[in-house]
Amino acid sequence: MKLAACINHVPDTAAKINVAADRMSIDKTGVTNVINPYDEFAVEECLRLKEKNGGDVTVISLGGDAHKESLRKALAMGVDKAVLLKDDGVRDSYGVARGLADYLKEISPDIVFFGKQSVDYDDGAVGVMVAEMLGLPSVSVVVKLEVAGGKAVAEREIEGGREVVETTLPAVFTAQKGLNEPRYPSLKGIMGAKSKPIEERPLTALTAKAALVQMQKPPAKPAGRVIGTDATAVPELVRLLHEEAKVI
Ligand SMILES: Cc1cc2nc3c(=O)[nH]c(=O)nc-3n(C[C@H](O)[C@H](O)[C@H](O)COP(=O)(O)OP(=O)(O)OC[C@H]3O[C@@H](n4cnc5c(N)ncnc54)[C@H](O)[C@@H]3O)c2cc1C
Repeated sequence: MKLAACINHVPDTAAKINVAADRMSIDKTGVTNVINPYDEFAVEECLRLKEKNGGDVTVISLGGDAHKESLRKALAMGVDKAVLLKDDGVRDSYGVARGLADYLKEISPDIVFFGKQSVDYDDGAVGVMVAEMLGLPSVSVVVKLEVAGGKAVAEREIEGGREVVETTLPAVFTAQKGLNEPRYPSLKGIMGAKSKPIEERPLTALTAKAALVQMQKPPAKPAGRVIGTDATAVPELVRLLHEEAKVI
């Protein structure tokens, strides 16, 4: 079984993000980047499918040289091949999807896994766009997957429950938290990954379909208000919660 996972290299979720002076990018001072957390579930699921069904796992990332760090992490987890689709420019979700889809068409995997969203720009768009570009079925927000006989049965998380979906392969899936518990790379895996090759494919720049206009921080929260310090404040508190905050 041919498996592929697409991974993004994103600011660590613990990092404090500030908008840069040009208001068109983030200030990268002191910000470390990591493999997108949802993409770790995608890589882990591909590794488990390989362990169960045989085959090989390719990880693909589109971006600059910095993305090699996340590709190396995936190699340390145990994937067979890592590919950097190199573009130092800025691509919107469509551009990222286009680059990935062109490469995936070439290697035609049975299963392509994405994270449900990239925690930098949060579009949740690339996986389903790639499925459309490849003309493949897609199942998003997957929390369980069983594969047998050229078919897949996936469980999706929906409001208040789960939905069970069956599809034929090849197909595209996007991973939700809870799908699995990603493994920690072993020391042997980390050492081995250092010398494993990362295939580089240069991409030509692509005009974005959506252009960034400006980045803004959310407005600062107003200071808290003390209504009173004993039970006499309760009626006023209830009135404010009802009439101003409109939460009761
Ligand atoms: C209008 C616009 C302007 C932007 N400007 C900048 C900028 O100036 N600087 C900058 O650094 N970024 C910029 N970006 C964001 C950058 O292009 C995003 O990384 C890209 O759009 C993917 O994020 P997303 O939120 O669209 O991904 P989502 O659709 O949320 O990602 C879903 C999944 O797709 C896969 N995926 C996403 N991105 C990649 C990737 N690069 N390689 C492999 N797999 C991937 C992962 O599996 C991920 O979990 C911009 C995006 C937009 C829309």
